[in-house]
Amino acid sequence: MQNLTVLGTGVLGSQIILQAAYHGKDVVAYDINDEILGKLPARWEFLRERYLADLPDATEEKVDAAVARIRPSSDLADALKDADLVIEAVPEVLDIKRDTWAKVAAVAPEKTIFATNSSTLLPSDIADATGRPERFLALHFANEIWRNNTGEVMGHAGTSADAFEDVARFAEQIGMVAIRVKKEQPGYVLNSLLVPLLSAAADLWVRGVADIETIDLTWRKATGAPAGPFQIFDVVGMETPYNLNVRSDDPVKREFAEIIKRDYIDKGRLGLAAGKGFYDY
Ligand code: NAD
Repeated sequence: MQNLTVLGTGVLGSQIILQAAYHGKDVVAYDINDEILGKLPARWEFLRERYLADLPDATEEKVDAAVARIRPSSDLADALKDADLVIEAVPEVLDIKRDTWAKVAAVAPEKTIFATNSSTLLPSDIADATGRPERFLALHFANEIWRNNTGEVMGHAGTSADAFEDVARFAEQIGMVAIRVKKEQPGYVLNSLLVPLLSAAADLWVRGVADIETIDLTWRKATGAPAGPFQIFDVVGMETPYNLNVRSDDPVKREFAEIIKRDYIDKGRLGLAAGKGFYDY
């Protein structure tokens, strides 16, 4: 599959676009208007620095060649006309996803395979809106895909084995380690493991069982992992754990959310990207 169209050019969409182009794919970058597409050159410059810093074999020339393989378009029919594969990275809102796929279904060529990068919605929540459920599935990337290069491939019960393998192979062609998820699972493999770990760490800290440094040290020393759960929270950023816990039925989780808001978010300690979170960087 040579021709990729990516729907949505935000945090993840822009990364998927550049990563695929960097690995030689011809990519159309679709977003809802030209003003948003006008921000793409700045995104390529931001990502260029990250590729050069993080990937030993990255060069200015390779990034230039990748950018040259990207064509922006705000016309959906035009964006899809040659697509072998569409990857959707629009906001994580079911109505927006379903509406987007219904519009894609009306104009996409017969050959096109459809994939969603949704983190929390299941393919079966969306499949009937696509008009071709047998060729619809999830390809889920992790943030900073050029180095955190897992591509979780997950269908719904009606996804064909051929579409599944085509997408897994595509993921490998663009530098991903394809993670074949054999049945529909909220959170895929990664978040099914990570969310309980982070919740347990928060619970130990809020109940005063151990402090942040001790919890992280335990995890690192005893398992050989490079980072402990609070270091991972800092990478994720404070907004996500706050939103996940603030309305929990569990009072310990709600208290965790309150502490995050009061002592971290309100004090600008938003995590690694802000230079400070649970730790100073
Ligand atoms: P984002 O808000 O940064 O970007 C969303 C983009 O979609 C924006 O450019 C917006 O203009 C565009 N958009 C809005 N409505 C649209 C429409 N109808 N058609 C086409 N484009 C539209 O969001 P994001 O963080 O890139 O997340 C996108 C998807 O990727 C979500 O499903 C999210 O769960 C998933 N995801 C995000 C991360 C992450 O760390 N941010 C990681 C893995 C997966």
